Amino acid sequence: MFDYCVVGAGYAGAVCARRLAEEGGKKVLLIDRRKHIAGNMYDEYDENGILVHRYGPHISVMNEKRAYEFLSRFTEWLPYLHRVNAEIDGREVPLPINFYSIDLLFPCEKARTIKSRLLQCFPGRESVPILEMKQEKDPVIRDFADYIYEKVFLHYTVKMWDLKPGEIDPSVTARIPVRLNYDNRHFTHEYQVMPKDGFTVLFRNMLDHPNITVRLETDAKDLFRADTEAQAIRYAGEPFRCGIIYTGALDELFGYCFGELPYRSLKFEFGTHPETRVQDPTVLNWPDDRPATRRTEMKRLTQQVKQGVSTTITEYPGGYIRGDRVWGEPLYPINKPENIRQYERYKSLLAQFPEITPAGRLADYKYYNMEATVLRALDVSDELLKTCAGEEKE
Ligand SMILES: Cc1cc2nc3c(=O)[nH]c(=O)nc-3n(C[C@H](O)[C@H](O)[C@H](O)COP(=O)(O)OP(=O)(O)OC[C@H]3O[C@@H](n4cnc5c(N)ncnc54)[C@H](O)[C@@H]3O)c2cc1C
Repeated sequence: MFDYCVVGAGYAGAVCARRLAEEGGKKVLLIDRRKHIAGNMYDEYDENGILVHRYGPHISVMNEKRAYEFLSRFTEWLPYLHRVNAEIDGREVPLPINFYSIDLLFPCEKARTIKSRLLQCFPGRESVPILEMKQEKDPVIRDFADYIYEKVFLHYTVKMWDLKPGEIDPSVTARIPVRLNYDNRHFTHEYQVMPKDGFTVLFRNMLDHPNITVRLETDAKDLFRADTEAQAIRYAGEPFRCGIIYTGALDELFGYCFGELPYRSLKFEFGTHPETRVQDPTVLNWPDDRPATRRTEMKRLTQQVKQGVSTTITEYPGGYIRGDRVWGEPLYPINKPENIRQYERYKSLLAQFPEITPAGRLADYKYYNMEATVLRALDVSDELLKTCAGEEKE
């Protein structure tokens, strides 16, 4: 009765479902074990009437017209300019570090010297990775780079990824650039927007198609099993005859037979404040050794006007623990060679099941931002649509 079963109603699953239903004319069953659509992009109004992102603050930034135009079919956008400050030695300075941050961090004369040495040493460059700066011969630049490395990257990385300072691979951390100008924007993407009525409405519109049936609070396990011994997908012992787009985790799909894939997670603390505005920037980062990494003022993202009340989300990083009430969301894959090898073992099992197509941050075990997820889903659905077209010709 269904041609495809899509597991997961986040961007990866929803984009595939829409395209197969609309462009391929396929009957699609979309399931998610949560009570809601939109995956980690899910938003809802809280008790103060403020739209909050339940899985952490999300900003739509895109460079690819293809992703932007596809999503624009399902929402109007509000233009949005993201601002992030970091609290360093009691001062709030813009991130990424730029000349404005340098003016705020150092006395006037010292700031002037640092800026002019940076321009002399890196002529014509708009930004320079901190690692490159740390290797400069000029002692003014090296001291500056060491200070920024420690104050902005080191402790943040240690608490975010639970590493000891010596375990940080500087070539990864220190790729982060310092801007050699007064560009205060956090992102420099072509499209920086927020959906006018929120992400959940965007998803609702995307899934509103007569060929799509959405079933929530339904786990893939309730519908089928990938039986590695029989090399078959089964439901209640019978063959399950449906193409499957799977956006969940592969270790779970295969019963953790090679062990659990590790992730970092976050605890989200929602705060209500009897104030119209809580903080100057939308996001305030704490790159020091206090437990939280950042606090986001939601109204500023969603651009709601509300007097005398505001909601913030404070994030605390920690290790993912399967089934835990607080740490039970697998959010960030941990990009270490041994983890990638473990993932590849699961991926090789998929070769036995050509009817399953993996997509998305969990199934691909990759940190994708929203745009990367949408592009991945557009590519995956292109391939499936080609196959559908081929089958119809035969
Ligand atoms: C804190 C945080 C902030 C972020 N901020 C940004 C940002 O500002 N901008 C940006 O571009 N990106 C951001 N991202 C990344 C963004 O969240 C992801 O790119 C995007 O949500 C990935 O979509 P997805 O469909 O792959 O996964 P998800 O949105 O996680 O969707 C997967 C869905 O599959 C369901 N599922 C899994 N297994 C099963 C199963 N067995 N049965 C049924 N259902 C199942 C899950 O319940 C889930 O709803 C952020 C990520 C985090 C963690």
